Amino acid sequence: MVGIIIVSHSRQLAQGVRELATQMVQGTVPLAIAAGVDDLENPLGTDVMQVHEAIESVYSDDGVVILMDLGSALMSAEMALEFLSAEQRENVHLCAAPLVEGAIAAVVAAASGANVDGVMAEAKGALAAKAAQLGDDIEFTTSVSQLADREEESHTDKIHITISNRMGLHARPAAKFVATANQFQSQIKVQNITKGSNAIRGESINEVAMLGARCGDELAIFATGGDAREALSALQTLIENNFGESEIVEDPPSVQPPVSPKLANDSSLQGIPASPGVVIAPIVCYQPTFLTVEKRHVDNVEGEWQRLQVVLRTAYQEIQTLLSHASTQIGDSEAAIFDAHLLFLSDPALLDTVRHRIYQHNLNAEAAWQDTVEEIAAGYRQMDDPYMQERAADMIDVGQRVQQLLGGSVTSPPKLSQPAILVAKDLTPSDTAQLDSSLVLGICITQGSPTSHSAILARSLGIPAVVGAPAKVLQLTDRTMVALDGETGKIWIDPEQSIRVELQVKKQEWEAAQNQALASIHQSAITSDGRQIKVLANISGFKDAQTALKMGAEGIGLLRTEFLYLDRNTPPTEAEQFSLYQEIAQLLETQPLIIRTLDVGGDKPLPYLQKPLESNPFLGWRGIRFCLDNLELFKTQLRAILRASSGHKIKVMFPMIATLAEAQRTKAILAEVQTELRQANIPFDENMEVGMMIEIPSAVAIADRLAAEVDFFSIGSNDLSQYITAADRTNPRVAKLADGLHPAVLKMINQTIQAAHQAGIWVGLCGELASDSQAVPILVGLGIDEISLNPHVIPKIKQAIAQLSFTEAEAIAQAALKLDSSECVRMLVS
Ligand code: PEP
Ligand code: MG
Repeated sequence: MVGIIIVSHSRQLAQGVRELATQMVQGTVPLAIAAGVDDLENPLGTDVMQVHEAIESVYSDDGVVILMDLGSALMSAEMALEFLSAEQRENVHLCAAPLVEGAIAAVVAAASGANVDGVMAEAKGALAAKAAQLGDDIEFTTSVSQLADREEESHTDKIHITISNRMGLHARPAAKFVATANQFQSQIKVQNITKGSNAIRGESINEVAMLGARCGDELAIFATGGDAREALSALQTLIENNFGESEIVEDPPSVQPPVSPKLANDSSLQGIPASPGVVIAPIVCYQPTFLTVEKRHVDNVEGEWQRLQVVLRTAYQEIQTLLSHASTQIGDSEAAIFDAHLLFLSDPALLDTVRHRIYQHNLNAEAAWQDTVEEIAAGYRQMDDPYMQERAADMIDVGQRVQQLLGGSVTSPPKLSQPAILVAKDLTPSDTAQLDSSLVLGICITQGSPTSHSAILARSLGIPAVVGAPAKVLQLTDRTMVALDGETGKIWIDPEQSIRVELQVKKQEWEAAQNQALASIHQSAITSDGRQIKVLANISGFKDAQTALKMGAEGIGLLRTEFLYLDRNTPPTEAEQFSLYQEIAQLLETQPLIIRTLDVGGDKPLPYLQKPLESNPFLGWRGIRFCLDNLELFKTQLRAILRASSGHKIKVMFPMIATLAEAQRTKAILAEVQTELRQANIPFDENMEVGMMIEIPSAVAIADRLAAEVDFFSIGSNDLSQYITAADRTNPRVAKLADGLHPAVLKMINQTIQAAHQAGIWVGLCGELASDSQAVPILVGLGIDEISLNPHVIPKIKQAIAQLSFTEAEAIAQAALKLDSSECVRMLVS
């Protein structure tokens, strides 16, 4: 936890601040004071050594924030830093926040688990809170003339650009716009020239989305700050590249039900088709509980605001979990809906309004939040574009999540115990993303539209759905038989036999068409001149494996086992691991399953493993390094993998190997476990292939030596790119440097493939680069044998391979190796 220090000339003042701050967090935050001097006659002053001792008393790798009162307090604090080691100094931050409000905001942020940057930001923000309370409002919008007036003195740059993607600046592009704007220090403002709007903040997802910018609209974008030019250039590239959207955008089903042949004795109800498919099944009605919010007067406005901050952080974590779940279950582009949800939570325009309501009107957090969310949702509902009107549902979804957390409860999606059609008034995108498609056979909701994110998610999950159904379906009792046609939007309650028969025929026809479409998914990826590339899937659990098979994976190229170790208080037992590995292997039948041993550390911490916090976790005790120092944990996993290998096509793979010695020691431990199993007469596959990930530059440099130790390599391009370019893949300011298509990375991939093939072993690639269709010709041309990727991208990548000729791909790859930048490589392949 981040430690806090109060430096003051007056010991009494510092003790008072400590008393206030400690009371806020019940003493849970490490807090020390350095105040006054030991001079009875003249006790006011600050002492460098006291500050130094205070730092030592609260120091941890999480960092320390120092708040000071006047003049020489700052000097004493600065001098105290000189007594620290360079490493410690990096972690100790002097904060310009006001002493009292800053200290309170800082301890509350630290108590809620914020990192040192978060604590600094909260402390500094405390002044803004006071300003709001005094009615000194922050302006939400700025007129363009004001901006232009300021242009000279504050280095404002500006561009004019036309939106060219088909759907315009809708939720997902708006999310990308805001995420890009947030990567820069400069303040970004945007104006929709075509619609004559005011200039709004580029960091606010809601304000950007409500610009209502459509294809063909002209925007003026202003950037003020040191990196204004870079910011504008990044935004321009984003817009010119149509926000990364493919030209083919899925058309939502028509709002007018298609004319369909009339069925005999048709007694159907009419809804709006949202996701195709026919289903006849019993229903289950879902009635979510909505909390009623009461308005209360609060005196402790600061406490109320901080309570909301803690909840917002929890909500943020929940949505992040949902995002990563949706990305494997449904696909990255649909999961991006939740990127927009994350931005809703941190939207400065929304938060300023909530803060204003709490501080100015002494409103409780629930009421301030509710009123603001409702206002924004109403803004969306009033927009002309029906697609944008649907964004109200997204805002309400995020709003409800926060509201439930404020009320102390957790959100739980609808759960079915038996296969059924789910009937509801409405489903939030979060509800829909978490539906179990093996149990939810159909969806029938009385609200919504085909462009709602719930409908988009239902289509991605392949669940037939009708929206806008007549309200009478909500009166039906559970287990009533209902037939639903997601293509025509028709619903039949207790359908007659003749209708069931006709629908059954349609259902069979639909399923046959689906199967035909799926058949091509299952074809091998072979170039036009006959070279086959195996296409496998990256997964984190059993459900992902099911999805992978449906999407045409030829096996699992990477099972990230660390996900088994997350969200629990103790490591998984050997039995638990054995049963999961075996279940997945059984599902795959004769197809291969590559199990990667625990790759904990980096961005995947596990609290119960008591790993010390590190200043550079990606360069720290992660992957194989951690396992080799925790042999009991490692051997438990190896035993489970080996036992599951008996009778199955399981391969094991080790992450983060940097040296030959690590590879040899790892193999020796595997051999030890194999001997123990043999002695205990426990069967395992004696010929199980053993591989390693190539994801550290040192491993590439000695790939020829490492190749002699293993049966295969799998290139981890995510880590390899970040280590080659020394750019933390999770830091948005530098992550774009770690581009897998940079020739520096491609040369390392080339070197690895050459070394592997010379040693007679095969080589795969399981980083994100494998999901990038622009990278495909290069990877194929460099001679990759196998790729492993997000299941949802498999059909697209297989198709891309089938359209290539290997000879051409080789020429493209060789040309790419000679280029100067990833931009040039992209131009070459596009
Ligand atoms: C990689 O580094 O490319 C990889 C596949 O592993 P992870 O993303 O799990 O670190
Ligand atoms: Mg990796």
